[in-house]
Amino acid sequence: MNITRPDRFANHRIRGGAPEHAAIDGLIALHCALRFIPEAASSTLVGMNAIILSVGNELTLGQTVDTNSAWLSRRLAEVGVQVVMHATVADELEPLVREIRRASELADLVLITGGLGPTADDLTRDALAAVLGVELVLEERYLEQIRAFFAERGRPMPEANRVQAMFPAGSEPIENTCGTAPGIRARVGRAMVFVMPGVPREMRVMYDRDILPWLQAHTNGAVILARTIQTFGAGESEVGERIRDLMARGRNPTVGTTAQQAVIGVRIHAAGASRAEAEALLEQTTAEIRSRLGNIVYGQDADTLWSVVVRELIARGETLSTAESCTGGLVAKRITDVPGSSACFLEGVVTYANEAKIRLLGVPAELIAAHGAVSRPVAEAMAVACRERSGSDYALSVTGIAGPSGGTPEKPVGLVYVGLADADGCDVLQLRLGSTLDREEIRDRTTKTALNLLRLRLTVS
Ligand code: AMP
Ligand code: MG
Repeated sequence: MNITRPDRFANHRIRGGAPEHAAIDGLIALHCALRFIPEAASSTLVGMNAIILSVGNELTLGQTVDTNSAWLSRRLAEVGVQVVMHATVADELEPLVREIRRASELADLVLITGGLGPTADDLTRDALAAVLGVELVLEERYLEQIRAFFAERGRPMPEANRVQAMFPAGSEPIENTCGTAPGIRARVGRAMVFVMPGVPREMRVMYDRDILPWLQAHTNGAVILARTIQTFGAGESEVGERIRDLMARGRNPTVGTTAQQAVIGVRIHAAGASRAEAEALLEQTTAEIRSRLGNIVYGQDADTLWSVVVRELIARGETLSTAESCTGGLVAKRITDVPGSSACFLEGVVTYANEAKIRLLGVPAELIAAHGAVSRPVAEAMAVACRERSGSDYALSVTGIAGPSGGTPEKPVGLVYVGLADADGCDVLQLRLGSTLDREEIRDRTTKTALNLLRLRLTVS
C-alpha cells in the first residue's frame, strides 16, 4: 500500500469565516454553535472548527466518564481550533458510520477517540473504512510493531491483535508509542479525520506527538485564549444583563456566564491569528467586563473568595479570626485551605451551643435571652468579642438557621447574621437565603457572603 506522506495534507484549506450548513436538518443546535465562529470581529482571524467523537459502550452506558473530549477541547483551543460539538457514540457500526460521515460534512477537523481495540466490539476502523468506501488493508510494518510490543513483554501476539495493523486503504497509520493500537489519519471529504486510542494516556501521547504538530503547521499560529472573571454578589441574570451586548453571538471574543454555587463566572474566549492578537482582544474585553461589573468582581480563573481574602490580608499585613455557629467552622476551613494563610489567620472558634457563646466569647446570657442566638445583637457581640480576645484586626462571626428544621415564622430556615468587626466597630449583615436551599447550600452561601463582606472591606476604599 502506498503510505501517504504528510505533504498530502499540506493544502488543507484554512477558513476565514463561518460555514453555512442550514440545509442539514435536525442540527439546529450545532448550527447555532457553528455560528459562534468569530468572523466579523477580526478580519485576520483564521481558524478551523472541530467535532470530537468519543466511541465506546462504556461511555454511552455511563460507566466511564468521557474525559478525552474535555482534554482535547482545551488543547485544541491552544492552537485556535474551535470545538463546536462533542458526541458520544456506542460501539455500533451503523451509528458510527453515520456520525463520522456527518461530522466530516460539518467540520474541518474530526477527532475520534476509542474503538481501536483488538476485540470484536471495536469498530471504529471498520466504520471509517465504510465511510471512505474502501477495504481494510494490512500494514506489515505496523503488524511487526505490534508483534514487537508483545515480544518485549515476553508474550506471543494474540491473533486478535492483527486487526490493529489494518487500516482503511488510502489512510495513514499513526504510530502508538505506548500501546498496541495505532491511530489513523484520513481525509473524508473536506475534513481531516484523526482516530486515536480511547485509553487517555495513549490518546494524549499521540495527540502531542503527531496531531498537535500537524495542527500547528496548519493553523499558522492561531490561538484561542480563555479567561473566567469571577463574581459574587449578583445573580446570573443580573450579570448577564450588564454585559448583554458583549455576549452577542458572532462576537470575538465570545462571552458567556456560568453559575456555580452562587459564584457567577464570566467566560471569555478570544480567538486570534496570533497569540498577541488574542491577548489584546482578551485584555480589552476583560477590562470592559470588569468596569461594567465593578466590585462584584473578586478575581479571575482559579481565584476563590478565600484565596483573594488571604492575599489581601497578607498584602496589608493584617489578621483575621472567626467565631462561627451555623457554619461549624467552614469559614475557618476555607481560609486555612489557602496555602500561606498562617500569615494572616489567628484562630477560629465554633460556638454552636448558646452556652459556648457565653463561655468562650463572653456573649451576655441576657442578650441571647432577649434576642435569641440568631440575631443581629448576638452576631455583633460574637464578632466584637472574637476580635478583642484574639487580638486580630478583623473578626467574622456567623449565626443562623441552616435547617432543615429549627425554623419559625419569625426566624425561618435560611435566616443568617454575619458580623464583621474591625477597629471602627462592627457591621452586621442579615441574610435571608430562603427555603429552597438545603443545609449544605445555606452553609456554603453564608461562608461566601462572610468572606465577600471582608473582601469588600479590604479592597474597596
Ligand atoms: P478503546 O480504545 O475503545 O479500547 O478504549 C480503551 C479504554 O479507554 C476504555 O475501556 C476506557 O476505559 C478508556 N476510554 C475510552 N474512551 C474514553 C474517553 N472518551 N474518556 C475516558 N476514557 C476513555
Ligand atoms: Mg472501546
